[in-house]
Amino acid sequence: MPRKKKSDIPESEDEWKRRLTPEQYRVLRGKDTEIPFTGKLLFNKEKGTYSCAACGAELFSSETKYDSDCGWPSFYAPLKDKVELHEDKSLGMVRIEVTCKKCGGHLGHVFDDGPKPTGKRYCINSASLAFISKT
Ligand code: FE
Repeated sequence: MPRKKKSDIPESEDEWKRRLTPEQYRVLRGKDTEIPFTGKLLFNKEKGTYSCAACGAELFSSETKYDSDCGWPSFYAPLKDKVELHEDKSLGMVRIEVTCKKCGGHLGHVFDDGPKPTGKRYCINSASLAFISKT
């Protein structure tokens, strides 16, 4: 019998490193950005849900995914109460960082050049996402 219930969310960076691939770790925990047009979910058109590759929380629906031509999976809205936004002044820019509300993992950034109905572009690293097909 385990002495304590295994937590959903790792408590140490070592545990995150063991759980994630090196690329997932670099992006989700190190706030890195994957090389544009390389993510495996960029051109995915299947119906389903995009969840956090780190903790499994559901984050985006395929219904809000669209072709932004920016090189990263793009959504015009997240699922309700699933992501958090933070001002990010790194790299000499002011951007809004998007993180997973459940585990704090870095997902990407949100910009104001998206389509209707929100006008937002959630520009999300493929490495931060796991796709769950509806079919
Ligand atoms: Fe997460």
